Parts: sequence; structure tokens; C-alpha cells
Amino acid sequence: MTPGPMQNTDTDSHTTGRCNACSSFDERIADESKCACEVGRNLKALCVDIGPRFAGTEGYRCAADVMLDRFKSYGLVDAHLEGFEFTAWRRGKPASLSFIKPTPNTFECYALPYSAPTGSGGLHGRIVDVGKGLAEELDSHKDALAGNIALTLGTGRHRHDVYEHSVALGAAGLIICNTTPGGAFRTGSVTNATPGAIPCVSLGREAGQLVKGLAHKVPDTEFVLTTDCGYEPATTWNVVGELVGNEYPDELVVIGGHLDSHEIGPGAYDNAAGAVMVMEVARLLARCHLHLKRTVRFIGFAGEEIGLVGSAYHAKAHEAQLTRIRTLCNCDMPPVSGPWSLNFYGCHDEESRRRYTHALGQQMGLTLDYKTFHHEHSDHAAFVRRGVPAFALGGGREGLTTGGTCHMAGDTADHIPVKGLCEASAVAARVLLRTVNDELWPDRHSNP
Ligand SMILES: [Zn+2]
Repeated sequence: MTPGPMQNTDTDSHTTGRCNACSSFDERIADESKCACEVGRNLKALCVDIGPRFAGTEGYRCAADVMLDRFKSYGLVDAHLEGFEFTAWRRGKPASLSFIKPTPNTFECYALPYSAPTGSGGLHGRIVDVGKGLAEELDSHKDALAGNIALTLGTGRHRHDVYEHSVALGAAGLIICNTTPGGAFRTGSVTNATPGAIPCVSLGREAGQLVKGLAHKVPDTEFVLTTDCGYEPATTWNVVGELVGNEYPDELVVIGGHLDSHEIGPGAYDNAAGAVMVMEVARLLARCHLHLKRTVRFIGFAGEEIGLVGSAYHAKAHEAQLTRIRTLCNCDMPPVSGPWSLNFYGCHDEESRRRYTHALGQQMGLTLDYKTFHHEHSDHAAFVRRGVPAFALGGGREGLTTGGTCHMAGDTADHIPVKGLCEASAVAARVLLRTVNDELWPDRHSNP
């Protein structure tokens, strides 16, 4: 662990009491965010006017244009699209799972992004029930899996891990059953935007139960899984804009959220909500530009859903700048109600972060809890791996009615409480203002 270049022990009004500039900004924010118009407009633009924003599709390109337009109209500097090449995955004909004995039946299923195609003849094999897909469950079926199709409820482990493990054990295919009732599919990429080794599909919960029952009752039943998909080189774009700091313009705070969704639906909560939050924070902070000591960079990340490719590209392309990034605030499935918290990635120097977080809450006149998180399945990962500290605004989900439809067609805008998202964006803007202006920021760069 090495101290970051911007850490010092100076104290100013931000660590000793109320800052007049921030307090007056708090009041302006409160006024400004009362009207939910812009948040509602942006949510509608992404989820209703455009809909799915899958990497490499026209829907994503339109969304990038919307975000770029907003960044420009809010007054961000150097707002631009940051393009890069990647391997796009293209869905072909609908996937299916069928069997002949004891009674012929065919279920529609849904090929998961970056899984391999089966070929037109389909993949023939027996179904091996591997429970929740935990490591020990897969290992215990090692012999049966070779050349056959693993079936999992998909609640035990991250899908990438289950997929990789199944491939390593010689499975010829993988079926992940949805746990949400109603026959719907749950999607999710199986690799980080590289061609997968075996076919993989989502099966609705009810069909999954039938198939699982049959696999136990008549274990030698042969199933045929058919999927159709392919890969091609394509371009996608991060959307980037800045508000330039007027004291230390070379020092940065980054706030980002992924703008892409899966192709199954409009991805309203995952993650139009986060992208809208980034736009709203940009709008609110642009109105107090004179108060920003450091530069704030706003990013709509591309291709998060297919393996975090946009944030990985940005972190690599701006490698030389990373030591000057004080922190990254990632907005992925953001809170829509209190009680609010700052959720820091990792946990070094826990005590100073906790004290800072509570002091910040006091200044802002709200309860701000200190929390940590450790997963690497969002856009903070590429930055954290290179030593940049990251956090997310945490909080409640009051009024959010998506009910676990993340990565499903049901993740639609009518489930998002617009007022709640406004309120969360205002809190994020007020926190970000302090991370930009406070001389003492408790998070340190770590040694990658
Ligand atoms: Zn997400």
C-alpha cells in the first residue's frame, strides 16, 4: 500500500465544521432537485424511447448519443464518445431444449451472451443436476458431466464461475434455471466478452423443474440443446465529459455508471437508473462549477454487462492519469431512498473512513453510514485493480418494485421511483462535492 499523491493532513472547514460554499450548494441542490423533470426525462429516453442497449447494437449507440447530448447541454467540458473495438456477440434463432422419451417435449430457452453455438444439429446429451452450481457440487459430478449438460438453479455462485468450472470438468453444455416464477428468462454473459467454449442457456423456473424432475426419474433420457449465435468485431463507446477544477485541475474524481443493458429488456434499474444518476449529478454540479477545486470526470461506461469492457478500456487508456484519480464513485443499481451510506471497496484504514463518513453526514444533515463491499462484478474493478480507491452511494430501495427482475425483461422504468432517484442523485452530488473539495479524503491508493 502506498499513500496516494493527494493525501495530506491539512484540515480546513470541511474537516472542522461547515463550509459556507458547500452549505449554500446544499440549499441550491435541495431546490434544484425538487423538480424530477430531468431525471424522469432521461429515464424515459433510455428505457422507453430506446429500450434495450446491448453492446454493439443501434440501441446502445442511440443511448450514447442521448448521454452525450445531456453532457453537452449541462455544460460539461470536452464531452465526447470514447470509441474502442470489441468482440460483439450476436444472437441467432431462438434456442430450445427438447427430448423424445418418455413423451416428446420442447422448451424455449434463451442463449446467454458469449456462450458458444451448438450448431444446427444441436447438442445431444444427458442432463446432470448440479444443484446450485457450487464448486463441491460440480466436482462431485465430475464423471457424469463429461460430454453432458449441467443443469443448475444458478443461485449459488456467479455465473462466470459456474460456466468456467463446467467447461473445466468437460461438460458439453450448461443450463441455468431462473429462480423467479413466471417462465421468464434471466440473462447474463458467461465470459468477459471473449468467445465461450460451450453453449449455455437460461431456462424458465417451471420448465427447469420439469427437466430436473425428468433427469432424476429417467436419468438416461437424451436431451437436445440447440442454440444459434456468433461473434463479430464491432465498436462501442464510453461517454465522457468533465467539469474542470479551478485549483487542482489535474487531480480527478470520477463518477461513472454503465449505460448498456442486456438485450432482453430496457434494464431500467440495471442500469439506466445509475446512468441517469451520473447525468443528474453532472447537471447539479455544473450549476456550482466555481466551487469545484478538482476536476470531476463523468463517464457512461459501455459494455459492463458483457464483461466490464468499457471501464477496463478507460482505465487502461488513461493509465498514466490513474494516480491522480482521488476516487471513483460507481453508480450501478443505485439506492432510491435512505438511510444512506458510503460503501467503500475493500477495508484498509477503516477507522478514518468511518469517522470521515459520519462527519460528512453531520455536515449534510443526514445519517450517513459507513459500509464496505468486496465484489469485482462492476465497473470499479478495473480501477481498483490499478490502485484507485472506489466507493458507491448505498441506501434503501423504498418504492422500487422491480422485485428481483435484474437481467430480465421485467426490469422496466415503471418500477423506478423517479422522486427517489432524484433524491439519491442529490445526495450523491453533495457527497461528490465534498470528495472533490475536501483537503482530507480518507481513502488511499493501494499498491496494485
Ligand atoms: Zn449493472
